[in-house]
Amino acid sequence: MTDNTVVIKFGGNALTDETANAFCQVVAQLPALGYHPIIVHGGGPQINALLERLNIQSHFVNGLRYTDADTLAVAEMVLCGQVGKMLVRFLGKADRYAVSISGKDGKTLIADKLTRDDNGNPVDLGYVGKINRVNPALLEHLIQYDFIPVVAPLAYGTDGETYNINADYAAAAIAKAVAAKHFIMMTNIAGLLDANQDIIHRAGIADIHRLIADNIIVGGMIPKTLSAVDTLSAVGEVNIIDGRNPANLLAVLAKQTIGTTISTTIGTTISAAMSKN
Ligand code: ADP
Ligand code: MG
Repeated sequence: MTDNTVVIKFGGNALTDETANAFCQVVAQLPALGYHPIIVHGGGPQINALLERLNIQSHFVNGLRYTDADTLAVAEMVLCGQVGKMLVRFLGKADRYAVSISGKDGKTLIADKLTRDDNGNPVDLGYVGKINRVNPALLEHLIQYDFIPVVAPLAYGTDGETYNINADYAAAAIAKAVAAKHFIMMTNIAGLLDANQDIIHRAGIADIHRLIADNIIVGGMIPKTLSAVDTLSAVGEVNIIDGRNPANLLAVLAKQTIGTTISTTIGTTISAAMSKN
C-alpha cells in the first residue's frame, strides 16, 4: 500500500446533502496534496428515515437496535444505494472518479456475528457483525488507478451471511489494514469533550479508558474512541474532528490543532478533576 493513505470516516449524523458536497470538494483536493483518500461512511439516521417510511418496526436490546432481515435489507439499500452513491456523485462533480463498494465487495471486510457487547457481555443483535479480517486488495487496486474508494460498513460473513458493522469499527479495521498515515473521524461534534464540556485536544490511550469508565465518553463516542485506540499499533495518529465543517479536514492534515488527536505518543493529559465532575 502507498505510504500516504488517509482513511476518512464520515459519520451519518453529520452527513447532509450540504456537508457531503462540501466534504467531497475537500476530499477532491487531497490527491494533489499527495494523499490517497479512502472514505468509509455511516448512515444511521438515513437508515432510520427509510425504516420509518416503510413502517418497519425495530426492537432494541439494551438500547441497541436488533438488525433483523428486513432491517438489514434497508440498511444495505440506504448505505450502498443512497449514501455511497451520493458521495460518488459529489466527488464526480469535483472531477474525481470514485467507486462505492461495501465491505462485501472483494471480501474487503470479513466478519463474524457479534456475540459480545462493548463490555464483553453476551448479546444477540441479529445481523450485526464484528470484523474478523480485512482484505485490502480491492482498495489497493482502486487507489493504484486513482479511483477514490467509498466504503459502506457491511461485511461478508464467515458463515456466508451479510453483516452490518458499526462504521467506526469498519473504518478503523481498514485504517489498520492499510497502515494509514492518518485516520480521521468526522463527526457531528467539535471533538472529544471532558466533564466540563471543554474540548480535549490531545488524549492518550489511558485517558480514553478512564473517560469511558467515568461515563464521560458515552453512546456513539464509545465505539469511536475504542476503535481509534485499536488502530494505534498501525496508524500514526487518529483525529476526531467536526464533520459539519469539512474544511477541518485540510486543517488537520496541515497540523493545525483542530478537534481531538489520539496518539500513543501522548501520555495522560487529562487530570482526574477534568474527568470527574
Ligand atoms: P457519528 O455519526 O459521527 O458516528 P455518533 O452520534 O455515533 O456520531 O457519535 C458522536 C456523538 O457522541 C456526539 O454527537 C455526542 O453526542 C456523543 N458523545 C458521547 N460522549 C461524548 C464526549 N465525551 N465527547 C463528545 N461527544 C460525546
Ligand atoms: Mg456513530
